[in-house]
Amino acid sequence: MKKIILQLCFLVLLTIATVPLQAQVTRADSSSEILQRTATAPAAINLKRLRTSAEYFRPDFEVLQQGEYSIISLRLPGNSAAKDYYVKKIGSKLYLNGDIIVHDFNLMSTLSYTTNNNSYTWPDGTVPVILDNSVFASDYYVIIKSALDYFNYHTSIIFKERTNESNYIIISCIDNDGSGKAGASPIGKGGSGGNKIELIKDAFSRGTVIHELMHALGIYHEQSRSDRDKYVEIKFDNIKAAAKHNFQIERDGIARGAYDYCSIMHYPAFNSFAIDETKPTLVCKNNGVIVACPGCVGNNDEPTRMDLDGLDALYRGAGVSRAPYNHPFESANVPISGCIGVTDLSIVDKWKAYKGALGDCRSGLINLGILAANLVRFEHGAIYHSTHGVNVVYGDIYKHFVAKGFVRFGFPTSDEEDIPVTFSGWRRYGYTRVSKFEVRTIIWGPRVGTMDLLNADYVAGPLTREQLKLLELQRTEPIRLQH
Ligand SMILES: [Zn+2]
Repeated sequence: MKKIILQLCFLVLLTIATVPLQAQVTRADSSSEILQRTATAPAAINLKRLRTSAEYFRPDFEVLQQGEYSIISLRLPGNSAAKDYYVKKIGSKLYLNGDIIVHDFNLMSTLSYTTNNNSYTWPDGTVPVILDNSVFASDYYVIIKSALDYFNYHTSIIFKERTNESNYIIISCIDNDGSGKAGASPIGKGGSGGNKIELIKDAFSRGTVIHELMHALGIYHEQSRSDRDKYVEIKFDNIKAAAKHNFQIERDGIARGAYDYCSIMHYPAFNSFAIDETKPTLVCKNNGVIVACPGCVGNNDEPTRMDLDGLDALYRGAGVSRAPYNHPFESANVPISGCIGVTDLSIVDKWKAYKGALGDCRSGLINLGILAANLVRFEHGAIYHSTHGVNVVYGDIYKHFVAKGFVRFGFPTSDEEDIPVTFSGWRRYGYTRVSKFEVRTIIWGPRVGTMDLLNADYVAGPLTREQLKLLELQRTEPIRLQH
């Protein structure tokens, strides 16, 4: 009972705190007074002081027009204190500096702006990823995968498909919202649930995805460092009213590393924020003197060495220190692309299980008629559905199979698999993988390549080196008819 009364009191408090404040949300309109004020630092109006609760409620948000700014006090991830920022309403979200998603009121109706703490890095530097269906339209998947792979191959970060983790990112390709951005992301891990990364269809590039993933990992804009005024000058006179607030400082404390003009997190000098796009919205400075900006400013589509060092330092600080994962991002949800009419669902399921390793579809469904079997060919292999089940042949073994011809082997009777360590001694001679067929077996090793032999010879194993040599000679047999 006591608990219920307390909750009721809390509700009353919330109501008192919320209702009068609806009118007090600061609205940036196009009046000259506001424009003048926004040309310098954001005004020090701290809504937090007006409240009994350090939160920003959906009703506050709903009084804003689309594209309108509000000033709210936020403690951004990794910052030591809350600060006032102009944030812009687009759809159900508030955005900071163009592409940083501060909050989505569709997901949570209250924005707490003082509870962000420093644990915004991803545990173990591992980021679970969901690609929503929109990613698989057009060639978006290829671009996005390439960006995810960049991190997997160049940094200590691992992007992998989400299984059941409570924190993850959702990558989504959305229609153009007219705001001029190519993508957007929250900073860092955030609270529980999925952080949505938005990519604007037909506007984003691989560089955009990498930039947004850097935000998702906890990295801010370079030209929003606390010491940026030593290195660049923002030309507010040439910035559209709707974009005035895209240059706010995002980090307090000491900036890490030297100022990096070529950072993938740096805005270009010339951009669509400009009133006159032939003139820059920022210029570069050296010891207080305006100098020509390097050509790389805002034009990089990959992180610089300094970007990578900054990311590395952030995650080393969180206890993550390791060599790159060197393994591609894989998704079980990649649909068969390039194929029409693959109605054999057993083949579709098998293809999904290989998470894109087979590449794009190349053939459509081929019905082998009298043999009562189906076949689909892919970029890097094929899947057969025969009386032996559904089997994949791929990689170098598939190349060998195609070169020597179906007649020599018959249908596959297994997927490619490891040669068991305790089996028949093939591993002693460098062979590690095997695909079995009706008539013959193909084995493969990273140093020795492929070889095929009669099934009985495979089972018997390489009794002597001489016998092995004899078997290997068969590699030079002429190529036969393909099926
Ligand atoms: Zn950004």
